[in-house]
Amino acid sequence: MNHPERGGAAGYNGVEYYQVVQSGSYPMSTPDPRDEARALLDRYWTGRGMPVDPVEIARTLGVQVLRGDLPPDVAGVLMKRAGHDPRIVVAAGDSENRRRFTVAHELGHFVYRGAMLETDSDQYEYVDERSRLARAGTDPVEVFANQFAAELLMPEDVIRPVAKQMSAAVLADRFGVSQEAMSYRLHNLKLTRFALRA
Ligand SMILES: [Zn+2]
Repeated sequence: MNHPERGGAAGYNGVEYYQVVQSGSYPMSTPDPRDEARALLDRYWTGRGMPVDPVEIARTLGVQVLRGDLPPDVAGVLMKRAGHDPRIVVAAGDSENRRRFTVAHELGHFVYRGAMLETDSDQYEYVDERSRLARAGTDPVEVFANQFAAELLMPEDVIRPVAKQMSAAVLADRFGVSQEAMSYRLHNLKLTRFALRA
């Protein structure tokens, strides 16, 4: 579902949000990560099939995506420096599918900021350690970023009809994610064919 009253995904160019801030006419509420991801898919990925390319979507939103040499325990970073476009840096040594999830997660941070109208700051930085990505956590911003990434790369309406006909490995390949991320997604959607061991 889109949020036309506050620009939805269309507002990430900053201009519409600025206008909304000026009007100050609606109550602030925590954005829904699934709605935000679906709004982007509806706008930028309709009819294009799987896998979704989070790098292309990020660039469309004005976010550069680069590979870099990050500390071993860091998978990705979203950073904005004064006077520069925001950029996502992902660990160059990670597999393509892991990098794709990391880009989607960092894009989740960017989208959250836009939805919360945190566009006033010209500098910010999010550093994501590997241990936090894709897992359930308690930090609401990280939970948002992970749920956003899962919906962006593994949209529920696409995965649900085919989930029980294919193995997690085949699904992971089709959606361009790691088998671990796919297994976790299937578990969260209660679509696993077999019960997972703890
Ligand atoms: Zn994060």
